[in-house]
Amino acid sequence: MPVAQLVLVSDRVLWMTPGEPVSAGFVAVRDGRIMATGPRERAGEHVGEGTRLVDVGTRAVMPGFVDVHAHMEVAARTAYSTVDVRAPRCAGVPEVLAALRAGLPEAVDGWLVGQGNLFFDQKLAERRLPTRAELDSVSRDVAIVIRAGGHVSVLNSRALELAGIDRDYREVDYSVTGMPTVVRDEHGEPTGVVKEMDNLLPLPKLTGQALRAAIRDGVQALFTRYGVTTIGEISETVEGLRVMDDLHQSGELSARLRIYLWVPGTASLDEACRHRELLPLRTSEDLMRIHGVKMFADGGYSAASAAVKQPYLGTEHFCGHVALSPDQIAEALVRTGRAGLQLAVHANGDRAQEEVCAAIVAAGGPPAGAPQPRVEHAGNFLPEPEVTTKAWRDAGIVPVPQPVFLYTFGDFFPAYLGEYGTRGRFPFRRLLDEGWPISGSSDVWIGSEDRATNPFFSIWNALRRQSFLGEVLDAEQRISVLEALRMHTSNAAAALGEGHRRGSLEPGKDADLLVLDRDPTRCADDELLEVQVDEVFLAGRSVHRRGGT
Ligand SMILES: [Zn+2]
Repeated sequence: MPVAQLVLVSDRVLWMTPGEPVSAGFVAVRDGRIMATGPRERAGEHVGEGTRLVDVGTRAVMPGFVDVHAHMEVAARTAYSTVDVRAPRCAGVPEVLAALRAGLPEAVDGWLVGQGNLFFDQKLAERRLPTRAELDSVSRDVAIVIRAGGHVSVLNSRALELAGIDRDYREVDYSVTGMPTVVRDEHGEPTGVVKEMDNLLPLPKLTGQALRAAIRDGVQALFTRYGVTTIGEISETVEGLRVMDDLHQSGELSARLRIYLWVPGTASLDEACRHRELLPLRTSEDLMRIHGVKMFADGGYSAASAAVKQPYLGTEHFCGHVALSPDQIAEALVRTGRAGLQLAVHANGDRAQEEVCAAIVAAGGPPAGAPQPRVEHAGNFLPEPEVTTKAWRDAGIVPVPQPVFLYTFGDFFPAYLGEYGTRGRFPFRRLLDEGWPISGSSDVWIGSEDRATNPFFSIWNALRRQSFLGEVLDAEQRISVLEALRMHTSNAAAALGEGHRRGSLEPGKDADLLVLDRDPTRCADDELLEVQVDEVFLAGRSVHRRGGT
C-alpha cells in the first residue's frame, strides 16, 4: 500500500457523508486526493517515510466549503479599490463622512469610491442616504461616489460634473442592471442619487497588475481564510478570467473556480458555447473550468424588479418583468446543454421562477446527458410554496437559495410587497423536509454584508434566522447545524454537479480540507460566528494558516 503524503487525525471529523456525522478519525491524502479514511486508531497504517502526520486533537476536520454562487471578481475589485462605509461598521451618516474623509489620500484619478451595503438607506441610523451636500462637505475637488449595493449610488457635485450629469442630462434607456434614473429635486437639479447607473459612470477601472493583485488577495481575504475551497464564480470580465487563469498557472490562487459566463454581460450565448476556442484556459479543469452560463430572468427586490405574482406596494399592477422569453430559455437550455455547460437562471420572484420552469418543461427539458439547470435565488421567497416547488419539480431544476439574504433584506420584503411579503421567507426547514437538497452561497457582490463570504455567517443565518434589524423571521423554519453545514459542503458540491468529487470526506474525492479551531456541531448558535479556520488544504496542499502561512 502506498504511504500518504498527509494524514490528518482528529477527535472530531465532520465527514459530511450520509452516515455517521461526527467521529474520531483520520483522513489520508496522496496526490491531491483522499486515499483513505477511517477510525483514529487506524491512521498509522498510512504513515510512512515523508508523511506529514498532524493530530489536531479536539479541533475539527471537515471538507472545504463550496460557495456555489459568488461574484468574486466584483467583490475583489471592490475590496481593493473602495473605502468601506457599510453599516453597521458605519452606524450613521457622520461615520460614513469620517471614513470617506480618512480615505481621501487613496483617491485614484480624482475619484474616491465608497462601498455602502444593499438597503443602505434603511441600515444607517438616520434611515436615509447621505446627501450630495454632505459628500461635498468631505471634498469639492475629489469626485466622491458611494455605491450602495450596485443599483443605487450617491454622488457629490464634482462626481456629477465629471459624469456630465446636470439639469439637462438625459438618461439612456438601458444599462446592464436596469433602467437608469437620475433623481432630481423640485427645481430639476440632480440630488446626487442615481439608480442603475454605476456602469455609466467614468469610475477608474482596475486592470493589469492591480487587477491581478486584487483577485489574488480577494480570493484569500474573502474566501480562503473562511475555508471556501471551491467558488461558483459568476464571471464579470474576460480580462478577469484571463487573470484567474494566469494566477492559477503561477500557483497563486487558493481556490477552485467553476465559472458561469454571464450572458450577455461577459459573452454572448454563442461565444459562451464556443468558449474552448474563444477563451482557452491553460489551467487544469480540476482547478478552473468554464462550467456554465448565467442569465437573468428578472431583477432584484431592492429595485422592485423581481417578477412576482402580486403588485408592488404603491403601484396598481406592477409585478416586475420577466426578461427572458420561453424561446430564449429553450434556446439557452439546448445550446448550453449540447456544449456541456450548466444553465443557471437568475429568477428572484416566484412568477419568474414559475415561468422559467414552464419554459424548461415546454422545451422538453435539457438535452440528454446535459447538466441539471439551476435557478438562482429559488427558495429565498416562496409565498405559495406548493405551486412554486411543483414548478421546480416538473422542470427538474436545482434551487439555489442564499441564507445570507435573510439578514440582508429579510426585513424589507413587506415594505415592497405588503402582507404577501411576509409569507414564505427563506423556508429552509420546509424545503429540507420535502427533500430538496438546498445549498448555501454568498452571492457576494458590491454592497454585500462584510461577513457575506464567511460560510459560518450563512450557517448562523439558517439557524438563528435573525434579520439586520434584529427580528427573528419564522422561527419554525430553523434547521440544524449539521443540515446547514451540508448546505455549504455536500449539497453545494451536488448543485455544481460535482458531488462525486468533493463536499464530503471519502476516498477518491479531492483533498480539500479544513482544520477548524473547534467543533461547530458543539457550538451554541451565536458562537458559530466565532469559529475560526486554522488551516486550509486545497488538493492536499496547505494554502492558508491562521496567523500567517
Ligand atoms: Zn448573483
